[in-house]
Amino acid sequence: NKQVVLRKYVDGFPKESDMNIVESTTTLKLPEGSSDVLLKNLYLSCDPYMRILMTNDNITGFGAYTLGSPLIGNGVAQVLESGDQDYKKGDLVWGTTKWEEYSLVPSSQIRSKIEHADIPLSYYTGILGMPGMTAYVGFFELGSPKKGENVFVSAASGAVGQLVGQFAKLTGCYVVGSAGSKEKVDLLKNKLGFDEAFNYKEEPDLNATLKRCFPEGIDIYFENVGGKTLDAVLLNMRVHGRIPVCGMVSQYNLTQPEGVTNLANLIFKRVRMEGFIVGDFYHLYPKYLEFVLPHITEGKVVYVEDIAEGLENGPAAMVGLFSGRNVGKQVLLVAHE
Ligand code: NDP
Repeated sequence: NKQVVLRKYVDGFPKESDMNIVESTTTLKLPEGSSDVLLKNLYLSCDPYMRILMTNDNITGFGAYTLGSPLIGNGVAQVLESGDQDYKKGDLVWGTTKWEEYSLVPSSQIRSKIEHADIPLSYYTGILGMPGMTAYVGFFELGSPKKGENVFVSAASGAVGQLVGQFAKLTGCYVVGSAGSKEKVDLLKNKLGFDEAFNYKEEPDLNATLKRCFPEGIDIYFENVGGKTLDAVLLNMRVHGRIPVCGMVSQYNLTQPEGVTNLANLIFKRVRMEGFIVGDFYHLYPKYLEFVLPHITEGKVVYVEDIAEGLENGPAAMVGLFSGRNVGKQVLLVAHE
């Protein structure tokens, strides 16, 4: 059973050498009378939050990975054996699994069975999985968007950002995205339907850039990166604007997080800035599927994926999230059905 394990706790930017590829010889066997399931992992999701679990300071309260054990994350899998009558051999499922070929997990870790065979299975690590729910909850529940409003999204071409932009367009908003390369900016404008996009690495004065893109200010800033971008956004929010705080990927590898100096604008502009964790909102998953599935089948929402192949390429895929190597949702293909 090939595995990707954490070799050492990460300090600063994660490196491929912080992880190891090992071959486990432990036989996975369903314990007598347990409700565990034995899974064959097909697709694994590479997510920025996993970096936070690679240190053991537990700032999130979510714990940390165990050294020498496989990484834990979301994935799509096929049931090989089941001690839970709700699942049977051959079922396709998505939920929390481990970075290895085969996993024995409690059936409670399965989020959902996969019923829509006409849609790529990998989508359940992205648009139909955790990042999709994150975009939906953050934008609609916390962002409270209205037609005609001005929306800014950072890390806009990524797993979550590309959906926030498309959901905002479906709502009739004006949408601008920032991303870290020309290729990503072109994708935002030409494939994902953003009204405007810019490469934040080539904008020396983000405040001036945002003033140019939003002469009347920003109603909703979907926060994915934090740091300098957030500081510039705070100068450009409109009265009664909203900032759903989804993530701060620019801060996860810093030992000394960047100071944000313009927070007082929250008061002057009466802005609501609110953090959220998608895990608190899965009761809305059926409602989300009802919303998004027709848009996918009618081609009104598209999804860009970056699929790395093989567990041995897992560490590079994971590390690449922090240099922006991924173009779209970073997925790891482990095996075919
Ligand atoms: P992405 O697919 O967007 O991948 C990460 C991207 O972040 C990279 O491709 C890179 O794109 C960008 N990035 C990396 N470092 C920096 C930096 N220093 N400054 C600016 N951008 C950077 O990831 P996701 O869509 O999966 O996640 C987006 C955000 O949402 C993350 O902050 C994540 O932690 C958060 N999140 C939060 C959840 C919640 O429940 N609150 C759930 C899921 C995600 P680029 O080339 O554009 O720089």
